[in-house]
Amino acid sequence: MGFSVIRRGKASRSVLRATNIPAFLALFVIAGAWIVAEQQNRRLFEQAQRTQVLNQISLVRARLEGNISGNIQLARGLVAALVVEPDMDQQRFSALAESLLHRNAQIRNFAVAEGMIVTLVHPLEGNERALGLDYNANAQQREATVRARETGDLVIAGPLDLVQGGRGIVGRLPVFVPGADGQNHFWGIVSAVVDIDRLYEDSGLTDPDLPIDIALSGHDGLGARGKLFYDPAGIVANDPVVADVVLPSGAWQIAATPKGGWPAAPTNQWTLRLLLFMAGALIMVPAVIAGRLIEERQRNIRTLRRREAQLGKLSRRLRLALDTSKVAVWEMNVGETEQFWDARMNELYGYPADNAPRGQIHWEKRLHPDDLERANAEFRRLHVDRQYASQYRIVLDDGEVRHVRAMGAVYDEPGTAPRIIGVNWDVTADIGLAEELKRVNALTEARNAELETARAHIEHNALHDSLTGLPNRRYLDEMLADHAARFAGEGERAALLQLDLDRFKQVNDTLGHMAGDAMLVHAARVLRDTARRTDFVARVGGDEFVVVRRWPREKAGHDACVAELSELSDRIVARMQEPLSYQGHECRVGVSIGIATDTDCLADPLRLLVNADIALYRAKARGRNRHQFFNDALQSEIVTTKRIADDILTGLEQNQFVAHYQPQFCARTLDVIGVEALARWNHPRDGLIAPAAFMKIAEELNVVASIDRLILEQGLVDFHLWEQIGLGVPTVSVNVSARRLRDEELIRTLRQMDIRPGTIAFELVESIFLDDNDDLTAWNVEQIKGLGINIEIDDFGTGYASIVSLMKLSPRRLKIDRQLIMPIVRSAGQRQLVGSIIDIGHSLGIEVLAEGVETMEHARVLKSLGCDALQGYAFARPMSGGDLVEFVQSRRWKNAC
Ligand code: C2E
Ligand code: CA
Ligand code: CA
Repeated sequence: MGFSVIRRGKASRSVLRATNIPAFLALFVIAGAWIVAEQQNRRLFEQAQRTQVLNQISLVRARLEGNISGNIQLARGLVAALVVEPDMDQQRFSALAESLLHRNAQIRNFAVAEGMIVTLVHPLEGNERALGLDYNANAQQREATVRARETGDLVIAGPLDLVQGGRGIVGRLPVFVPGADGQNHFWGIVSAVVDIDRLYEDSGLTDPDLPIDIALSGHDGLGARGKLFYDPAGIVANDPVVADVVLPSGAWQIAATPKGGWPAAPTNQWTLRLLLFMAGALIMVPAVIAGRLIEERQRNIRTLRRREAQLGKLSRRLRLALDTSKVAVWEMNVGETEQFWDARMNELYGYPADNAPRGQIHWEKRLHPDDLERANAEFRRLHVDRQYASQYRIVLDDGEVRHVRAMGAVYDEPGTAPRIIGVNWDVTADIGLAEELKRVNALTEARNAELETARAHIEHNALHDSLTGLPNRRYLDEMLADHAARFAGEGERAALLQLDLDRFKQVNDTLGHMAGDAMLVHAARVLRDTARRTDFVARVGGDEFVVVRRWPREKAGHDACVAELSELSDRIVARMQEPLSYQGHECRVGVSIGIATDTDCLADPLRLLVNADIALYRAKARGRNRHQFFNDALQSEIVTTKRIADDILTGLEQNQFVAHYQPQFCARTLDVIGVEALARWNHPRDGLIAPAAFMKIAEELNVVASIDRLILEQGLVDFHLWEQIGLGVPTVSVNVSARRLRDEELIRTLRQMDIRPGTIAFELVESIFLDDNDDLTAWNVEQIKGLGINIEIDDFGTGYASIVSLMKLSPRRLKIDRQLIMPIVRSAGQRQLVGSIIDIGHSLGIEVLAEGVETMEHARVLKSLGCDALQGYAFARPMSGGDLVEFVQSRRWKNAC
């Protein structure tokens, strides 16, 4: 479409379009007429000019003719006189001539030639040279004179240069005198010289007022054949008007043009042009207008055709749309009842397509009774709203129900009555679909709601502990992260209480998991009740809980917060200690609390948790059922611990851990019966360090097993050395940590070692055997025994192991802890206790060794109680391998006893 617009634009701009043809033709005709008219005008103008010139010539010509013939007439008078008086003398002649000349001044002179020789001249004065002139001898004058004689008539010659000077025309008249025979005989010639300049002047040729320029030709009176002799303005070439000047003999031709030449253009030229222009305009303007109108008409025709094509296209589309959409159409005039229904409308309502008029009654007949009233009401609104949209059901004769959507509108068309046009279409399928959709939608919504509930449930579960319903560790992490953000944003402060139930394990172990669960639920309740509603309480591990309290920035004063937290902790500790009755049992647990707060410039969730944990650890160490704030001392302890930990790892790498040995003696003979290998740390800076300073940290670092193995290896090396030198140290005992005993690799590594049965003993602390369920430990113990390694119970009397469980192990020796030995010198009861242990051991066939034998008094008492072996400062302190060799060989202790 854009393309055709462009083309049309170009065409309309072109001057050479068909509609301009009339204008062009008119222009052509006008131009032609213009040229012809101008030519005609010029011709007429020229003719008028020529006529005018001719008129003026006539005047001049008449004068010329008159003057010349007048002059010649005078000469004729002379001729007549001479005929009568041929012998007249000069005097007579002059008088006669003078009388003639007197009347006409144009004659310059008269001459009379008798025969051909001039005899008389008048006036004589000035013309004397003419006398005696022989015409026959004068070439210039002979011809005319001869011609006059021959023709017997006047001959006019000239203009010619006169002998006496000047120019003139000469009229020559022959004179014939009657002879004696009665015949006329040639006598002579009378010449009249006419002054040509005077002739011109008198004839008006030189009159300055004469409106024309004149030329004369016809020299010697020869008419058209004669030469040009007068043309002062040089007009002969300028197309002059020509007329004959009739002389008494022959003729001249006179030619004339207006003075200054012919006018170049007719004087009415511009008037004519104006008229022509106006006439042209009268023709052109209508022609152009006509052209424009034709063009307009053609354009209109084109527009109409285009619209027609568009209309055709539109109606084809509409037909297609109606066909494919199955839309039915009806029409009626406003205020009339008769309606026109198209075929589809009839089909929709179950009527035959018979083109018969339909009406309201046909429509209402089909309407579903339930929709009748509403549909009718809606239809009636059409007259008010001029628009109408409705949906209703119809029932066909066979009972089929159809859903129909109807729309209509009132149309006003000029010249016709207002009409209503409406459409109906079957939406039964749509309704079905919509209902189905609605059903599916409802179903989906229900599913979504279920899913949402499930999701919320899952989310809740993910963030809560199922047993107590408290937030769990994950929730705590989120909450702390949230707090960290608020710390940064609003300056919120928080304190974190880390709680650990004391003796929970015992409840669990003794009363079962159900009791444990009940205990946990109880603890959760206590925390919830004690904490504020805004506090965050979470269960983060088996028997570990966390309480987080937050303050807005302005309320976060340090001392006030500490007091508040102490008070909260005390209440928790007090409430937690209240017994819980479970199935008739009274369960009691305690709680230890570690508290950490944000520092002034940092809210690090991890740091909070770690610090609180450290404080908790300290609280437990300080004897449980209490709270401990994390503080600088704890902090520096941590730093130290960290340094030691690093040093331990380096020490292990650099073999800084060495075995020292403390001898063990037979209580009766005081012979050395073995040594206990004890770990020492040969610190490069701090010197020799005892286990108390590093063992705990090594435990936390999980490297005690490595230390155990190192000491065992060194013990073996030294033991072989002692054997070689025959030192007489029969056994070496090494301490074995609980973790090493649980090591799956232990037996394999032991097998690879060169251990002779009966030479090595493993000291196991009592507490190792508290857990009955630890099968690996029991199995390992059996394997160790199988390798010929003796088992000894270390620190006996400090733990809670039952004699029965210990017996299952069938150790070779019990080592009574030095806490029990120390008081025996002074306390009879203690002596008795140790004595009983010794007896029990003996009754079970187990050897008994007393540790911490610090004095000989102790040694004596123990000997008297029947103790088998002794170890203690009283005899020897732990010493290096080298020192031991020296010590044993010296037998110093024997002297001391
Ligand atoms: P333990 O197994 O009970 O070792 C005996 C400790 O009592 C030694 O302390 C020893 O020096 C000390 N002792 C000996 N006689 C007396 C005495 O008459 N009076 C007093 N007050 N103390 C005496 P040490 O060497 O400081 O070792 C301390 C603990 O470190 C050991 O107690 C043991 O449990 C542990 N230990 C030492 N070496 C190792 C090792 O290689 N592995 C493991 N797992 N633990 C070790
Ligand atoms: Ca020991
Ligand atoms: Ca011990």
